[in-house]
Amino acid sequence: MRQSTLFSPTLREAPSDAEVISHQLLLRSGFIRQLASGIYTYLPLGRRVLHKVERIIREEMDRAGAQEIGMPSMQPAELWTESGRYADYGPELIRLKDRHGRDFVLGPTHEEVVTALVGNETNSYRKLPIILYQLQTKFRDERRPRSGLLRGREFLMKDAYSFDTDWSGLEKSYELMYETYQKIFRRLGLNFRAVEADAGTIGGEGETHEFMALADIGEDTIVACTNCDYAANVEHFVKEGETVGLNGDHPCPRCAQGTLHELKGIEVGHVFKLGTRYSERLQATFADSCGIQKLLVMGCYGIGVSRILSAIVEQNHDDKGIIWPPAIAPYHVHVVPISTKDEVQMNLAEQVYQTLCKLGIEVLIDDRDERPGVKFTDSEMIGLPVQMVIGKQAAEGYVEYKDRSSKERKIMGVDEVVSDITKRFKPN
Ligand code: ATP
Ligand code: MG
Repeated sequence: MRQSTLFSPTLREAPSDAEVISHQLLLRSGFIRQLASGIYTYLPLGRRVLHKVERIIREEMDRAGAQEIGMPSMQPAELWTESGRYADYGPELIRLKDRHGRDFVLGPTHEEVVTALVGNETNSYRKLPIILYQLQTKFRDERRPRSGLLRGREFLMKDAYSFDTDWSGLEKSYELMYETYQKIFRRLGLNFRAVEADAGTIGGEGETHEFMALADIGEDTIVACTNCDYAANVEHFVKEGETVGLNGDHPCPRCAQGTLHELKGIEVGHVFKLGTRYSERLQATFADSCGIQKLLVMGCYGIGVSRILSAIVEQNHDDKGIIWPPAIAPYHVHVVPISTKDEVQMNLAEQVYQTLCKLGIEVLIDDRDERPGVKFTDSEMIGLPVQMVIGKQAAEGYVEYKDRSSKERKIMGVDEVVSDITKRFKPN
């Protein structure tokens, strides 16, 4: 991609209402723009990162045997009245009327729609278990949509729903999704913990876990054991009858050997054992092997896809900008010729660009007629894994290779750099 034509307006300063660093950096480096409070446009660089996150999620969900569907955002209010959530959900639920005066909602989540769907279409135990998922825009009229993509009023979620004949089936589906989430968050390069949690407005009868990306600005407080892998959302921990585990003063309820310490986290995923809460209210049943009608036993599994962008930036930045983990970087390599007026530099940059593109490497070339200072500042801020700076030594075939993450810099022969980059990023 040529930066001269890329629609990526950068800002020297972040708007004053952007409080957290990920929000500031995503705005400044031209990944997103705000349309209204909690409502954002993804610019080309932001959209590319989202695509990569989505792709990793799809690959792992498909590998687990889940099937992708697409459900509507606009949902008839009757379904929500049947589930009881039309009254319970509160002001976060966006309600509207169509031209005939019929009530609708904009889906904040899709338990109602998917339960009705599977209840209507699945009549036999032979068709179960099944896990359906979608990547879709959700609407929640959040009270304080302050932190950019961390808390949007319109945001992207991956939501999945499992349907089993009984609780032991649900245990298996839950375990499978739990493991799949571990794989997804590992591939995304997140530093995360799975914690015991509460079900919130989704409700349900069983266990739930949240996946927390660790970050100081996180809204959730977690207690984690120093010895075993026990961790819980502090809200859950307190409800379970434990006193709040102040740092270091409290023994672990699981292993009793370690002590608990507090961490801050951003909730990037949540898995629930719903049981029959929705199937009962919406009368979603199947015939068992004796022909008896039974309620579907459900689980639901969410990932905050757009929130992940912010969580990753919170965990991967320095004072100069973003440091994208290679798996989801919008491009792999930033080729930066210092002087656009220098023909030797431009020719070498162009040649490298063509070579890498042909090899399937994703390259951004800064072919803009800008001062070197502007180019360097933007390049650090955008934060691609590798920068290749092409300056005066281009005449001798040398370029500067900069690793954005380790900050290592080397002057290297251009062929060597190309072969290094190819080894690192060539698609399989
Ligand atoms: P929170 O406690 O942060 O409000 P939640 O528990 O209400 O989130 P869930 O209903 O569990 O959220 O939704 C599944 C996932 O969707 C969450 O784990 C989170 O990653 C993401 N998510 C929820 N609300 C938002 C939002 N307003 N903006 C962006 N992502 C969100
Ligand atoms: Mg949640």
